[in-house]
Amino acid sequence: MTAQLAQGAGPDAHTAVSFWLEDAGDDLTPRPPLDGSTDVDVAILGAGFTGLWTALELLKREPTLRIAVLEREIAGFGASGRNGAWCSGELNISVDLLAARHGVEAARAVRRAMYDTVDEVGRAAAAEGIDAAYRKGGALTVARAPAEMPALRAAAAEYERHGFAEHGQVLDRAALDERLRVAGAVGALYTPDCAAVHPGRLVRGLARAVERRGGTLFEQTPVTGYTPPARGRAGRPGRAVERPILHTARGDVRATTLVLAGEAYLTELRQLHRQLLPIYSLIVLTEPLSAAQWAAVGWDRHECVSSFRLTIDYLSRTQDGRILFGGRGAPYHFGSRIDPRFDRDEATHAMLRHMLVRWFPTLRGIRFTHAWGGPLGMPRDWMPTFAYDPATGIASARGYTGHGVATSNLAGRTLADLITGRRSELTELPFVNHHSRDWEPEPLRWLGARYVQLAMMRLDRLAERRGRAPTGRSLAERLARH
Ligand SMILES: Cc1cc2nc3c(=O)[nH]c(=O)nc-3n(C[C@H](O)[C@H](O)[C@H](O)COP(=O)(O)OP(=O)(O)OC[C@H]3O[C@@H](n4cnc5c(N)ncnc54)[C@H](O)[C@@H]3O)c2cc1C
Repeated sequence: MTAQLAQGAGPDAHTAVSFWLEDAGDDLTPRPPLDGSTDVDVAILGAGFTGLWTALELLKREPTLRIAVLEREIAGFGASGRNGAWCSGELNISVDLLAARHGVEAARAVRRAMYDTVDEVGRAAAAEGIDAAYRKGGALTVARAPAEMPALRAAAAEYERHGFAEHGQVLDRAALDERLRVAGAVGALYTPDCAAVHPGRLVRGLARAVERRGGTLFEQTPVTGYTPPARGRAGRPGRAVERPILHTARGDVRATTLVLAGEAYLTELRQLHRQLLPIYSLIVLTEPLSAAQWAAVGWDRHECVSSFRLTIDYLSRTQDGRILFGGRGAPYHFGSRIDPRFDRDEATHAMLRHMLVRWFPTLRGIRFTHAWGGPLGMPRDWMPTFAYDPATGIASARGYTGHGVATSNLAGRTLADLITGRRSELTELPFVNHHSRDWEPEPLRWLGARYVQLAMMRLDRLAERRGRAPTGRSLAERLARH
């Protein structure tokens, strides 16, 4: 089990988790924990975006449902309160691959659903009165050297091939410079389907919205496991049915439906241990830039920004004028371990600070005020799962691979439709009841994950030094193809 922050940890311990929680403008004092066993209609593990959107969407559809959300720490403690602020219509799985696996129409439906979701997050937050600093400025994927141009062209061609050309526009150097001035950049791919949000305010606001509609949050309540009903329940009218249970040290919660919404942390549950790989993503944040510094950088339209490196990097501009720079590259930990100590890795944070100044040399000497990180969940085939089994009453949404800010909203709406028995366009999406195969047992999992992580870094360094794009044929690239 993840080491929990000290029981009874006050708001200060949670403020330190990320800038987003510190700046959420909300009282982080934990809500009371579960106090004895109870019985509800829907019990949800996890008060992140997935659990909270699902609760909210269920209550919109059926306002009388009794819903309990069980959260180990506080709402927003996980990736939802720590991320890079990208509410993006892109997934981490290519349309080509989706089309090959599920057919062209299903792949297109996924794209359309994701684009709609970016707008829906803004709409739903506004409707609930949440000031999430939602700003739809699109996203720029920058080619920072000629070696990144083949990847840019391939990405643009993929949009065009599937009839989404306007969602992936190529900008030449001059057009990019008008928006954002990145040292050495030669062009960029612009997609309009991305908004920057304040994830801390969004997730904390969602928790309050769920409460306003009658849901109950129990914080500082770690779930130690779950038990499905002994027999399937379907098709046995009149028989006493057994119900699934969430277990905690403070009592059991019996429910008609369980929703497992713990993303990377689900790996700590015996039944789901190998379903996801917990991968750490780390972030550094600057002090607010001066007007002169912003004039040198540009970035007036507040796009979310990344590059074509194999080792993921992502940037966003905060509402209060700071630059967030995030990246993967922190090591995978043997046995899928998750620990608050892994949230900070000085070598990775130093690299991110260094990279930010390489992107924007005019910011040399800028002060960095925050550094944090957290685990995200990566399924074996990179494909998210929105699952519901009416026979057991167990639902789950997971496996967003670092693209969960928007996808969790889509998941919440889809799970709410599935649980309340509504057929909709969403319940036809290929995420529904998708089963990704398990990751390998250890030590193979650690060997594979570390090999790919280190090889990707080496390929990025080589590409930079030699000015040639990675071939796409190396073992690491083939293993990580998606
Ligand atoms: C550093 C970082 C940067 C990211 N950047 C982006 C980005 O820019 N854009 C994007 O789209 N995605 C990004 N992601 C991913 C995105 O944040 C997640 O996909 C999304 O927030 C997942 O939401 P969730 O509710 O499923 O999981 P989480 O937010 O992780 O919530 C799970 C909750 O469950 C609780 N929990 C877990 N286990 C238990 C238990 N046993 N008992 C009780 N409670 C439990 C946890 O405490 C946690 O609060 C990033 C992730 C990280 C870590």
